[in-house]
Amino acid sequence: MDYAVRVSHFVDPATFELQRDVILLISGSRVVEIIVGGEVSGGLSGLAEHVLDLDNAVCLPGFVNSHAHLDLSHLHGQVPRGLTFPEWVPAVIAGRMLPQAMVEAGIDDACRMSVAGGTTSILDISVGGDSAKHLAKHGLGGVVALEVLGWSGDEAEKAMARADEIVRARFELDAERLGKDAGDAAAPAALAGVDYGFSPHAPYSTSLELYQHAFGRAFGEGRVCTNHVAESLEEEQFIRDGNGPLRELLSKLGIDLSSFKGFGVTPLAMLLGDWLMPWLGADNHRLVLVHCNYAREADFELLAASKPSVCWCPRSHAYFNHAQWPLAQMRQAGVNLLLGTDSLASNDGLDMLGEIRQAALHPESEVSELFKATTVNGRRALGIEHDAADLAIWGLPSGAGNTRDSLLQAMLENEVPLIASFSRGNLIARAI
Ligand SMILES: [Zn+2]
Repeated sequence: MDYAVRVSHFVDPATFELQRDVILLISGSRVVEIIVGGEVSGGLSGLAEHVLDLDNAVCLPGFVNSHAHLDLSHLHGQVPRGLTFPEWVPAVIAGRMLPQAMVEAGIDDACRMSVAGGTTSILDISVGGDSAKHLAKHGLGGVVALEVLGWSGDEAEKAMARADEIVRARFELDAERLGKDAGDAAAPAALAGVDYGFSPHAPYSTSLELYQHAFGRAFGEGRVCTNHVAESLEEEQFIRDGNGPLRELLSKLGIDLSSFKGFGVTPLAMLLGDWLMPWLGADNHRLVLVHCNYAREADFELLAASKPSVCWCPRSHAYFNHAQWPLAQMRQAGVNLLLGTDSLASNDGLDMLGEIRQAALHPESEVSELFKATTVNGRRALGIEHDAADLAIWGLPSGAGNTRDSLLQAMLENEVPLIASFSRGNLIARAI
């Protein structure tokens, strides 16, 4: 046994119930035994090679950040506040021109910030796949979703070929690290705990053909597929009617829209109703739809019918001053609710407690729902098992009370120190 961890409070990833005086036994990447009651003959040290014996501590499933762009982290504090979405996009495109060394330093910092915030897995959208090696270096798990975009359907195959090249490049990195265990190019091995997926960017930037290629690949291979949709009013206007500030922006970027008159429907109706229908089953947790800020009435029927994961980014949402997020309607539609940070180009932090605190300002929010969205629901989307040793141990907040929800509420109202965290059984953070 690698670790025996005793904590006074434990929120079980399988049931999300609070248990008291718990000993967790960790072997490899798994929690192999949970002893409730906390008493063992001979003490903890006989149980495992390493022991963490923590009074006044609560162990939660490690946080899952379900939407990040780590390769924009170098823009932290660089983009002025108060921009509309079509004004913000060019600033970010300009930021992508900065030297690769800056980009990589930003990703490295972002991984460190994430670990310090108790995050153990990230669903990162990545243009060049650069985050994979940084996630692995910091012991974080997750999925690097390779971003593909392009308005011209004729270019779709080229965009997918570029994504495949990135996969092969990453695979070589695996080969270097894993040696003979890496397999061969026909059967790429995943970095331990870091897999890849696909991300067609958004309905206003990505052709139907490219969506179908990317989703076909992701669904066919059982991978995560994630996508920005219904993010702004400008997107809704452009997709429905073909005009507005996004049309002007895309024209300025050199896209030929001369024959485009809009699709006549909302972005979600176009995506779920028209474009993705062939791939959708009864529930689709590995399809992660990001934002959905402007989901409309008929859209909720499509969401209820397909049950995807839907990721709300509370602080980025506040940054753009969007209308109130449709939390009650999402709950009613039964989607797998997730929370994400989005990038540091529209957020000041990457800690999920900060996202929960922002989300908790929503009048319809419930504290346990928000903690589930950032832990067990994220695991479901990324395919992380209940018994994965992805855990974050926090100092018990004052006024924790006797129930799970009073404890979680107290975590929002107090500064709570991260004592330790494990990702796939590796100790990745430890307060001294
Ligand atoms: Zn995003």
